[in-house]
Amino acid sequence: MDKPYAHAGEKYEYIDSYYSRTLDDKGGFPQLEGDVTTSVCVIGGGMAGVATASSLVEKGEKPVLIEANRIGWGASGRNGGFVSSGYSKGAGDIVKMVGKSHARELYKLTNDALDTINRRMGDQADNLKANNYGHFEVSWFNEPGVVENYVEFINDLMDVNYEYWPKEKFRDYYKSNHYHDAYLKPQALQLHSLNYTRHSARVAENGGAGIYEKSPAVDIKKTENGWKVTTEKGSVTADRIVMCCSAYIGNLNFRLSNATLPVATYVLLTEPLGDRLKSAIEGRWGVSDNRFSSNYYRTFEDTSLFWGGRVSMFNPQGKKLEKIMMDDLLVVYPQLKGIKANVAWGGFMGYPVHKMPQIGELEPGFWYAQGFGGSGMTATVAGGEVVADAIVNGDERYKLFEPFGLDYAGKPFGPIVAQTAYWLFQLRDAYKEWRLNR
Ligand SMILES: Cc1cc2nc3c(=O)[nH]c(=O)nc-3n(C[C@H](O)[C@H](O)[C@H](O)COP(=O)(O)OP(=O)(O)OC[C@H]3O[C@@H](n4cnc5c(N)ncnc54)[C@H](O)[C@@H]3O)c2cc1C
Repeated sequence: MDKPYAHAGEKYEYIDSYYSRTLDDKGGFPQLEGDVTTSVCVIGGGMAGVATASSLVEKGEKPVLIEANRIGWGASGRNGGFVSSGYSKGAGDIVKMVGKSHARELYKLTNDALDTINRRMGDQADNLKANNYGHFEVSWFNEPGVVENYVEFINDLMDVNYEYWPKEKFRDYYKSNHYHDAYLKPQALQLHSLNYTRHSARVAENGGAGIYEKSPAVDIKKTENGWKVTTEKGSVTADRIVMCCSAYIGNLNFRLSNATLPVATYVLLTEPLGDRLKSAIEGRWGVSDNRFSSNYYRTFEDTSLFWGGRVSMFNPQGKKLEKIMMDDLLVVYPQLKGIKANVAWGGFMGYPVHKMPQIGELEPGFWYAQGFGGSGMTATVAGGEVVADAIVNGDERYKLFEPFGLDYAGKPFGPIVAQTAYWLFQLRDAYKEWRLNR
């Protein structure tokens, strides 16, 4: 797997994954050569950058987006493909920090983003393997009343209609002795995130955006009237820039780089399981559990199991990673012992210490949208929209994210501290499981 601190562009092509193996749009976007001038230059072609470019195009701009590798090469083209509203930070903590009405406005942004993702797929939903099966959050712990109360709280706060499911009903579909009660997010989608990101970039390009791959920004300079972004073979002269480089930012900007930790997480795709799948799973919904080190998974038409989980600062690969992920899977579903892996891969998310997206203006004309690790895809689309709206219309919704600033994430020691914290959280979950589930 790629290194988080590697210079972007060091490795242009997609890593081996289910997504790259089933890539739809095989045509590339051009590499930037020579100088181009634009109102807004977006740096980074993951979902955050592409969503920013899409929103700018929808508001009448013709931005230029430069991506170091390929569109969707980072987390956006490797993830679990689950799309639902919300943030990584717990809802209770957000309310405690900013108050209920502010929290409601933040959640509205991701509810709207979910609608935007649906709209941007247009008539391509089938090609993007998108479906609206919904997604379950299931409790690993036997804590009567906790999930039910949470559903009441979150439905009111987020203005959603999540459904509570008791343990017995849930286990009819997901046959693991580890599971307790659960709630369903009916609006949640599953999609082919790499194809979606590339599709959105293509639509933005057709709308007038310049989209460039294999064009890493290597230098950013302030000019009299704006900015000059230099790439390996060209440059972009822009009134404004928006940086969306996430965990792969390297040293391009010291302040932004130091505000997020690159945290790796992983996915395994099994072989098609045929009738064996039914011994474990009979539902088409996505599932994740509520341990700190949780698993998230879904099944495919061909009966293969798409299994995500773990976070770490290390980056196991190949057969070693397949075994680690398979061992996790068998803890939940021991009845699947003996099934084989098809492919496993990982990717880095940009993780801020406060677990909320980092969105704002570093100095006049220098915007950023990053730190979506854990918060995920709807948050990237919400981020792109508020930044574009601020640039084009002077809208101030981006200020909803001001309380969650560019806190120092602890580099170069951050990864070690975070890995240690992760192990401690795993221990805490194991103790909680022993205490509650006896
Ligand atoms: C394995 C995995 C599973 C996940 N599962 C889910 C899930 O199921 N649901 C969900 O909502 N979220 C999930 N996430 C998180 C989600 O994928 C991310 O939050 C989101 O994709 C972040 O998008 P981004 O655009 O900020 O970052 P990225 O997608 O990482 O994009 C950053 C881009 O910036 C580019 N870049 C960096 N430096 C430069 C430079 N100097 N010049 C030009 N370009 C540069 C990189 O090449 C990269 O393409 C998962 C993440 C991973 C890794």
